[in-house]
Amino acid sequence: MEKKPFLSLDKAQEIIKDIPTPFHIYDEKGIRENARALNKAFSWNKGYKEYFAVKATPNPYLMKILEEEGCGMDCSSYTELMLCESCSISGENIMFSSNVTPVEDMQKAYEMGAYINLDDYTHVEFIKKILPEVPKTICCRYNPGGVFELAGSEDKVQVMDTPGDSKYGMTEEQMEKAFTELAEAGAEEFGIHAFLASNTVSNEYYPELASILFELAVRLHKKTGVKIKFINLSGGVGVDYKPEEPRTDIAYIGEGVRKKFEKILVPEGMGDIAIFTELGRYMLAPFGALVATAIHEKHIYKDYIGLDACAANLMRPAMYGSYHHITVLGKEDKPCDHKYDVTGGLCENNDKFAIDRMLPKIDIGDIIYIHDAGAHGFSMGYNYNGKLRSAEVLLKEDGSFKLIRRAETPKDYFATFDFSEFKF
Ligand SMILES: *Cc1c(COP(=O)(O)O)cnc(C)c1O
Repeated sequence: MEKKPFLSLDKAQEIIKDIPTPFHIYDEKGIRENARALNKAFSWNKGYKEYFAVKATPNPYLMKILEEEGCGMDCSSYTELMLCESCSISGENIMFSSNVTPVEDMQKAYEMGAYINLDDYTHVEFIKKILPEVPKTICCRYNPGGVFELAGSEDKVQVMDTPGDSKYGMTEEQMEKAFTELAEAGAEEFGIHAFLASNTVSNEYYPELASILFELAVRLHKKTGVKIKFINLSGGVGVDYKPEEPRTDIAYIGEGVRKKFEKILVPEGMGDIAIFTELGRYMLAPFGALVATAIHEKHIYKDYIGLDACAANLMRPAMYGSYHHITVLGKEDKPCDHKYDVTGGLCENNDKFAIDRMLPKIDIGDIIYIHDAGAHGFSMGYNYNGKLRSAEVLLKEDGSFKLIRRAETPKDYFATFDFSEFKF
């Protein structure tokens, strides 16, 4: 599908007068509409709730918008829990899905009343030791092992991931033991969680995952007798980073999960199970962009455009070779007849937002809009080469804008040093 920026050149220029590039910008209208469509797609399920994966975009303003749309938060660390606390989000509005969990993190999640999702069988003993009691409701993360594959059209594999190589979750045997021992220790209601494939653009991923987890729930219920309260389909619904990629159809996905629910759980008398999701990317990636200025051009064996943003602002292309679509604002209708590498200024040759990308002729000062940076964008930022994290801006529903996180300054970079011992 054609990829259109949610920001016009005029609006960008107005913002840049106040907030210099680079910055991340988020589209409140898009975020709300998307969250509503998700909730509608799963409205057939009484206890349905999306727990936004905070790690994707940990900004209180965006978390509050999602909370207003009925979402809870999925955290995996002490600081993410604190962030929720600062937004006065707690209790059953938090899912704590961590791994390699430190004592303090687990205790914090317990104190906040979050749903705790145990990543490993040994965590059963661990929580018995470090928490005052085993929580009444507790969740365990499942890993089926092997290879997870979904065939698409023409027998092409559409989704492939390798749970057998992934560090997360428990085997079925361990799940059974964990449920039994947790029940003996006082747990009354149980959750099941699994994350099998990341960034899937197939509408069949969630229904397929759901059927695996629903069948597991039936087996575990029969074997252990425990009450299953919720099944958490976790993250993994993807977005169309590339124009030629299909866009996932959330209404279709919700309906696909419903069919499996009716077929597998309802006949077993388990039709009261709540469905949870923990989407990050799907909730925010398309509704955020990295806005940068072209500050340098260079012609050697290839043609390069250098931006004032770099991989420290958006790491996905450098880290995973990910595609992020690029629009030169104001040149949307110009022919893409120039081939560029679009780069940042890190002393790392993988600091390239795009390689051999066909774009309109770019002039110094042009505003470059990098699409789909709203999740796993700013949040994966770092300070390599002394680069500072950028500002985050919210484009509000009424068209006005608001700074929702200021850019770092050198003072922030220096804040963790203590120079008092040096005598110069
Ligand atoms: C990262 C993560 C998510 C969100 O994944 P997306 O790909 O952003 O949807 C959900 N749950 C857990 C446990 C995660 O680690």
